[in-house]
Amino acid sequence: MLRIACPFCGTRDHSEFSYGGDGSVNYPALDAALEAWHDAVFLRDNICGRQVETWQHVHGCRMWLLVERDTMTHEIFSVRPAHAGLATVLEATE
Ligand SMILES: [Zn+2]
Repeated sequence: MLRIACPFCGTRDHSEFSYGGDGSVNYPALDAALEAWHDAVFLRDNICGRQVETWQHVHGCRMWLLVERDTMTHEIFSVRPAHAGLATVLEATE
């Protein structure tokens, strides 16, 4: 069972979350060429090991999170808000 420690709600079962995809993708500018958008949206690495993923806590605070997880073992190394401003505020209060 995968349990994710939401920084706002605490540790919850993964069934409360929705997987959003690879969290390391840098999306192109809105007016970038279609090929750049195609590559960003459809061409992904199938990482075997540690990767950063986006998850939304849909049955909790509804916040988007960056979860660093091992795809082989499901071990979670870190969870932080996807919004950089919120991450900075949380780090300042720790
Ligand atoms: Zn939450």
